Amino acid sequence: MRFYCPRCWRDFAKDVTICPHCGLDIREFWKSRDYVEKLIIALEHPEKETPIRAAWLLGQLKDSRAVLPLIELVKKTEDVYIARAAVQALGEIDTPEARQFLGTLVQHQAKMVRDEVDRILAKNENTPKHLKKRRGL
Ligand SMILES: [Zn+2]
Repeated sequence: MRFYCPRCWRDFAKDVTICPHCGLDIREFWKSRDYVEKLIIALEHPEKETPIRAAWLLGQLKDSRAVLPLIELVKKTEDVYIARAAVQALGEIDTPEARQFLGTLVQHQAKMVRDEVDRILAKNENTPKHLKKRRGL
């Protein structure tokens, strides 16, 4: 098992209290954050299974603090699995902001992401009719 610094993301073979690279007090860092904040930080984790799982959990928790970080993740990730996980989470959280952002993704380059967006928009009764119509939903 590898351990990571949540600020510089260097990894270590063992659990350390202070990051030897950037000096962050890792124990204090985690202690001062609640579960949702930790999951949001985990979205940046370099091993892709972690952001995917964090996004899924954030979707289950439906905490609106996750909306902006998830949107940023979709915008910057080049991994379609991570993008899809973030899109699914945004569909679950479903704030007006999340919904509006999902509406902009109908042209996303990855079919896997577009299909997920279509699925979310189709089942969501809050989706504006013109958007459903245009997508043939
Ligand atoms: Zn560090």
